[in-house]
This record gives sequence, structure tokens and C-alpha cells, in this order.
Amino acid sequence: MAEAGEGTAIGCVYKNPSEGVEDRIQDLLQRMTVEEKIGQMTQIHRSVSSASVIKDFFIGSVFNSVGKSGNKDVFSEDWAEMIDGFQKAALETRLAIPIIYGLDAVHGNSQFYGTTIFPHNIGLGATRDCDLARRIGSATALEVRASGAHWVFAPCVAVCKDPRWGRCMESYSEDTDVVCNMTSIVSGLQGTPPEGHPAGYPFLAGRNNVVACAKHFVGDGGTEIGKNEGDTVASYEDLERIHMAPYLNCLAQGVSAVMPSYSRWNGKKLHGDRFLLTEILKHKLGFQGRILISDWSGIDKLGEPRGSNYRECVEAAINAGIDMVMVPFKFEKFIDELTSLVQSGEIPMSRIDDAVERILRMKFTSGLFEHPFSDRSLLKFVGCKEHREIAREAVRKSLVLLKNEKYLEKPFLPLDRNTKKVLVAGTHADNLGFQCGGLSKTWQGESGRITIGTTVLDAVKAILGLETEVVYEKTPSEETLSNKDFSYAIVVVGEAPCAESRGDDPEPSVHFDGAEVVRLVAEKIPTVAILMTGRPVLLDTTMLEKVEALVAAWLPGTEGDGIADVLFGDFDFIGKLPMSWFRATEQLPMNPKADGYDPLFSLGFGLKLKRESE
Ligand code: BGC
Repeated sequence: MAEAGEGTAIGCVYKNPSEGVEDRIQDLLQRMTVEEKIGQMTQIHRSVSSASVIKDFFIGSVFNSVGKSGNKDVFSEDWAEMIDGFQKAALETRLAIPIIYGLDAVHGNSQFYGTTIFPHNIGLGATRDCDLARRIGSATALEVRASGAHWVFAPCVAVCKDPRWGRCMESYSEDTDVVCNMTSIVSGLQGTPPEGHPAGYPFLAGRNNVVACAKHFVGDGGTEIGKNEGDTVASYEDLERIHMAPYLNCLAQGVSAVMPSYSRWNGKKLHGDRFLLTEILKHKLGFQGRILISDWSGIDKLGEPRGSNYRECVEAAINAGIDMVMVPFKFEKFIDELTSLVQSGEIPMSRIDDAVERILRMKFTSGLFEHPFSDRSLLKFVGCKEHREIAREAVRKSLVLLKNEKYLEKPFLPLDRNTKKVLVAGTHADNLGFQCGGLSKTWQGESGRITIGTTVLDAVKAILGLETEVVYEKTPSEETLSNKDFSYAIVVVGEAPCAESRGDDPEPSVHFDGAEVVRLVAEKIPTVAILMTGRPVLLDTTMLEKVEALVAAWLPGTEGDGIADVLFGDFDFIGKLPMSWFRATEQLPMNPKADGYDPLFSLGFGLKLKRESE
């Protein structure tokens, strides 16, 4: 055991910011005990975190997941205070190594009330706009830093091959090239590395940026029948070409961390796959000195049933190359097992040192030693006008126009503003929670006014003004439908919010009898139907025939105004389908390159209001 107070000794190389990062790492590493090293490799959940836990176990990182249902008042300032409290405890340990606090921010810092919630990745994929993705990354970074955290478990660069997958909304596209382009979000989150930044080195531009983590390595979107955490059966060549390519883009932009997938490749779980994690990712792909963090309880899940043969699971995962463990189910048990595996030599000390070097490298390069506490001056960026404007632009660009029939001699869209009375209907027309989808405020998402934002109904009312009567009925009555005064109807329907395995669906479709509502309305009133879903869904053909216009709006987030901007023609539709739209589930998974490819709408499909010649 080293002497207490060592970390404060004058002349410590590791404490001196003018020393080189590698020298600082080596200086610190040789001062650390095994206990302190294993503590650094442990990330605990905030619900079990306290000053004493951080100090007693030398914890390296704290994490929080999305809030609990009904948790309306979580606001960034309180979190910054809580995180600073954890940091204070870490800085009181012998070597004063700061913690790094991480959270999921997969479409904005979406777990807090009042933040800007951007469209889910599937909608961003429809924009094909990598500069937009980069700007969303910068805005997200600011809103995350304002909440006191330094690290996000984003982006998800899954190439989703099957819309039955419950995480389809987290994928930019079924097309590898589209996903590769959208990885530009990494340079928004972390900032852009300067010319000559050493390859394989983690990066963070400054205090307005966050450490990014590309996930879930690799093949998470290619599992059989789209099963979450399932098996991706593929040759190594296909795995590399289809699913690994986006990681190369992330690595080239200096992404500092990668998270392995819960899923399997040809039957083997990624969390224990030394070949893919170490030989391929760390050695071949140029990951080099960066950090591999497990998924939540990913080590426990290596055992079947969960947690059995725990010691073997820990040995397999750490020797496979995992450097930090996210929220082991029982962190004390993880620490005990890892310590004993090191003592017995089953995990070599060199592996532990390698993991800790990577963790320290991330902490040094992200400036945590110099600026460990939150910066409250960033609070003004939470949900600010500029960020909401970026989100609104993203919504506009993500909309895909699937149908626009002629009505009274001209295309039905754009909608007319000079009108006396319109009908707005459907379960998703005035439901901000449904509009944001899963991983918004809470893990599975919620219904209702979950945060600050505009619904489609709000947006339509704002654009039409007081001259037009906007009637809103979720399911319009017979009486309303037979009223002849309506010029048109806007019906918004979609999926119930969901996330991860709970979103797995053998037959993705519109929920809450949405198709029926669209049909009822469209029979009586000329209608544009708007779909809010995290994936292509099975479309009822009568509904499809009856509507004048159909728009895929994905899960657009807080800025419903972006939808009205395009419906009323202030902007044109530019979104292109990020996935093939299937006709029948028997066609899944669809492959645009295969013979007999016969989708309802092809990958890349998207109509415009104005024809090219106009
Ligand atoms: C998901 C990850 C996520 C983690 C923490 C896991 O269930 O697979 O994508 O980062 O939870 O919320």
C-alpha cells in the first residue's frame, strides 16, 4: 500500500498539465495499487453511488440511465450538483483521480426535462445530411456538459437490416454507406481533431465537448429475424463490409470509446470475443490506445442464465479486451472476482495495466484532471432557441413524402393556409411523448407532455393562426366526420414508444387502431396521414389507397413545428427512405441488391413537392 497523500506530492508528473499525456499516465500508473486499478475499471450506477462508495472502491466512473416514469422535475442543474458531489469524493481519494460521468444521449440529452430532443437516428438517416449530424452532435455535447456529464454512449452506428428489431430507430439506415456518412456526429460531439492528431489516440476538443462512444460493436443490427441481443450469422467478410465499416469512420474522427454488443456473431457473444474485440478492433482497425467499455451488465449477461459462472464471465470479458465494465449487476462482486483472477494469474497484470492506461488516457485527454467540475455557465444552452432551430431543421429534412395525389387538379400537398376549418386527428397528433419515442425522459418512453416542445397540433395551430378553426379529435365522431365544412384533415398515427427488446416486433405496424382512424377520416375528408414510427411498418392497403398524401415522419422529437414547415410548403420534402419499406413481413429482411427485390417503397425513395423542372 502506498503512502496516504502521495497524490498531492509537489512535483508529481501526473498532476502537471505541461507534461506529456503518456508520461503522466506512466507516472500515475506506477503509483497505483491493484485495488485502485480495478476501481478505475468499474463504472457504477448513480443509484448505488455515494461519496463513501467512490472513496472505498476507488470507482472510476459513474453512469445514469434515463429517468423513472413520472419523473418530471429532473433538471440539469440538480444533476450537475450531484455529479460534482461524486467528483469531490473522487478528488479526496489518495491519488485524486477524477471520475468520468457518462450517460446515454442518443437523440439529444433526452433524459432531462426541457432539453432539445432531436429526431431518432432513423430520421436523421433520412436526411442524408452529415453536416446536420455534426451540428446535432455539438448541440448535444453542450446540453450534456450543462448537466455535468462528460461522456455519452452514442452514436449507435448499427446497420439495421430488419425493421423487426426493437432498436431500428437507433440505426441511421440499412445501408452501410449512409450510416458511415452520418458518423460525422462524432466530430460534433467530441470536436474535430487537429491535423496530425496521432492515429489511435482518444480526442476531446474542449470543455464544450463530450467523449463519444460508438456502439454496439459489431453486427447488432444484423441479427436473425431482427431479434435484439440475438445472433448475427455472417462470414467475417460480410461482417466487416456491412457492419464494421462505420466504426472505421468513427475511429478516423478520433472516437474515444467503443461499446461491444450484447449480441452474438455466429453463436459467440461479443462481450467474450477476444478475436473481434482485441485482434480485430484494437489491433487491426486502428483502435489502439482507446477504451472499450462493456454494455450495461454485459459481463453478467455472458453467463446463461444471467450471472451464472460469474467468475468465468469476468475472466472471459476482461481477457477478451474489455477495459471498463458498465454497471456490473453487483459491483462489489465484480471487484472481488477481478481481484482474485488477477491474484491467481488468470488475468495477467499486464491486461489490467493496459486497461487502466486507456482509462487514464481518456481522462487526461478530456481535461478532467484540470477541469473536474461542471460548468454552470453552460446551463443557458439547455433547450435553447439555437438548438431547437437545429432540431426543427432536422425534422424538416427527415420527412419522407411517400404519396401525394392530385386533388382538385393539383397535388394535395402543400396544404392550403387560406381555409376556414381543418381537422387534426390521430393518437400522435398531440402527444409529445409519442412524438419523441423511446429513450426520451424514460427508457421505454411515455405518453403526454413529457417535456417542452411542440406537437403537430400546436404547430398547425400556430401556422394557420386564428382565421382558421382547427378542430382536434383523437378519434373523430360520426358527427364531426359528416361535417362538410372541413377543407382537409391531418391524421397523425404511429407506434407506441418502446426501446430495446421490448420493441422487438414480428409484425411492425401502426398501433392503437391508427390505420382504422385514418381510413374513417379519409373516407369523408381529403387527408394527409403522417406516420410516427421508428421503422417502416406494415401498411394497410386500403388506408394507403384512401389517403391523398402520406408522410413518414419517424420519431421527430420535440420540434413538431418542423412538420408544419413542410406540410404547408415553406420548405420542400427532401428526406429519402433510410430503409426499404416492405409490403409483407415474409419479405424481411430486404436486400436491395437481391433478385426479386420488390418493396412497397425502395431504399432512397422520397417524393418532392416541386418537380425538378419547376
Ligand atoms: C444498451 C446500451 C446503453 C446502456 C445504458 C443498454 O441496455 O444496450 O445501448 O448504452 O443500456 O443505458
